Amino acid sequence: MATSLESSALTKRLTDSGLRPTPQREVVFKVILEKRDHPTADEIFARVKSQMPTISLATVYNCLETLVQNGLVRQVNFDRAPTRYCPNLHEHAHFHDETTGEVHDIDVPAELLAKLRGVLPPGYDASAIELSFRGKAAPETN
Ligand SMILES: [Zn+2]
Repeated sequence: MATSLESSALTKRLTDSGLRPTPQREVVFKVILEKRDHPTADEIFARVKSQMPTISLATVYNCLETLVQNGLVRQVNFDRAPTRYCPNLHEHAHFHDETTGEVHDIDVPAELLAKLRGVLPPGYDASAIELSFRGKAAPETN
């Protein structure tokens, strides 16, 4: 995956989603795509500020809300923790490492997701499944 993102590619993704590609939206989206460590809004603000020193936290929040509403970024919530942001739009689970606080993407096989949908009572259909694990990294065994 490319680490440096062409501004034109970002612009296209924003316009494809029906969004006006403002410089603020572009820089917020770029920062989220560049380092996929599920940052909080404060962390995103700090990263964006180094590229666009005049931007305000309120503007960053507005951009995040717009990106989430238009399906370009998803919110990840854990109990008693600030919302984090994830640009991985494939259905996946999260592992929240309680020791380091890091959040990792976990691929979930499609057949497992289908099985999970199967546990719903008749008449219900899930539009999304949010799966998260919490724990510690297992000690090295080698
Ligand atoms: Zn994720």
